[in-house]
Amino acid sequence: MNPEALTTLKNTLKSSVVYTPDSEGYEQSLRRWSNTGIKPAGVVVMPSEAEDIRTALLWAQENNVDIAVKGGGHSVSGTSSSKDGLVIDLSRMTKVTVDTSNKTLSVQGGATWKEVDEAAGEHGLATVGGTVNHTGVGGLTLGGGYGWLSGLYGLTIDNLLSATVVLADGRILTASSTENPDLFWGLRGAGYNFGVVTNFTYQAYDQKNPVFAGLASFTPDKLERVIEEINASLLSSDPRSGAICILAQPPGALVPMANVICFYNGTYEEGSKHFGSLLALEPTVNTIKMIPYSQVNSLQNPMASYGDRKSFKGIFYHPPLDPKFARIIMNDFTEKVHSDPDLLASGILLEFFDMRKVCEVSQSDTAFASRSTTQNGIITLRWTDEKKDAEHRGWAREVQARWKAELDSKATDAEKDVPQYINYAEPGDSAVTNIYGENLTRLKELKAKYDPRNVFNKMQPISLD
Ligand SMILES: Cc1cc2nc3c(=O)[nH]c(=O)nc-3n(C[C@H](O)[C@H](O)[C@H](O)COP(=O)(O)OP(=O)(O)OC[C@H]3O[C@@H](n4cnc5c(N)ncnc54)[C@H](O)[C@@H]3O)c2cc1C
Repeated sequence: MNPEALTTLKNTLKSSVVYTPDSEGYEQSLRRWSNTGIKPAGVVVMPSEAEDIRTALLWAQENNVDIAVKGGGHSVSGTSSSKDGLVIDLSRMTKVTVDTSNKTLSVQGGATWKEVDEAAGEHGLATVGGTVNHTGVGGLTLGGGYGWLSGLYGLTIDNLLSATVVLADGRILTASSTENPDLFWGLRGAGYNFGVVTNFTYQAYDQKNPVFAGLASFTPDKLERVIEEINASLLSSDPRSGAICILAQPPGALVPMANVICFYNGTYEEGSKHFGSLLALEPTVNTIKMIPYSQVNSLQNPMASYGDRKSFKGIFYHPPLDPKFARIIMNDFTEKVHSDPDLLASGILLEFFDMRKVCEVSQSDTAFASRSTTQNGIITLRWTDEKKDAEHRGWAREVQARWKAELDSKATDAEKDVPQYINYAEPGDSAVTNIYGENLTRLKELKAKYDPRNVFNKMQPISLD
């Protein structure tokens, strides 16, 4: 990177912390959730205000420097990193302001859900956030966002009231249903394409009661019955409940288990009743108890820790999930992780959320294109040996293709074409062919209006052709 240009940048920024390869703390500034997401930036700018983001964006375009934006840093393919380019890292912009009279949360673009859950929780409030609380509000919101409260309140974007965006040309705009409504539409589901979001305002809801939540782990011989019971609990359609089944080998176990995180937004009695037949299968571990909502999204943190190389492949299925298919997947997964113990921290996550509230909003009301009753899941592989990157990613792609074939064998023609959830579809994922669905034409017009030079081009970029 041109040293003179760098000096100009540093002299023009007002309050940012800047890292270059020769500065102390540079390596740490590149850290991401997955080591596969790390790239050696030419310069990392950590702003504390929108003005400096404008300065950095204009500087990079004048000097033909590649631009990446980092929120929570969970992209495994490096969409929040740039080799030799500029990274605008929002990790110093994490403030959450709670308006208790209007029940709204104003959240800076670099915050994580932990900060949101805890700040809202102090006032007996909550909004729809991610189920792993160290993920960023930035990426999760801009791609749609699901969580434990989706059954009651829909997607994260369905609760987004406004956003402040720094565009590539340096303008700082508010987007809401009344100001720049076209941009607001695009931000909700394709949001990484238009600018740097410095602030999100969300609707919050009363959440004074603690919730019934925790982990129940079952030995693999019970897999079919576990899947049947979670299918039944999903079919009994209670928007206050949800479950995530994680096929993974917990530390200390000898084989992968069926680990189910159960959630019920109600009393202990109601939760116990809802999950009664599942828990009657006698889990070997059961940590379920009443906890404050603000702690729920920390339950998966021990399994979703930083470090290692990771592959993150989205899958989706048409409920009820076929227990026989789950068995085939479990057997193959067990064989794979036992043949290569470097993969032992891997897992396959299957979500069981009530999607009716999500589907109340039409496909064209926001840019988010995959509102449907299909359920999502993720194949998360973790390993350390860099030489095995291609092999492991290849295996994950094969498993992903089998889920797609399973979906196609059960779904109607309309369901087969449902676009894949953008936040679970990292670029370069060949199995993913449909992201924006029927909203693509309108998104192209918006891209041409708000980012005609395709400056924001890392995460599922909308082509300008
Ligand atoms: C462990 C784990 C658990 C997850 N759980 C859920 C879940 O429960 N529900 C769900 O819906 N999704 C979930 N996801 C998916 C998650 O929503 C995406 O990975 C999301 O992109 C992560 O956002 P981030 O800000 O942490 O990551 P980053 O890598 O920082 O960002 C991802 C993309 O968003 C862009 N971006 C981030 N912030 C901004 C901003 N403020 N302005 C402009 N662009 C920005 C980046 O440039 C990048 O392209 C999970 C992911 C992981 C890894």
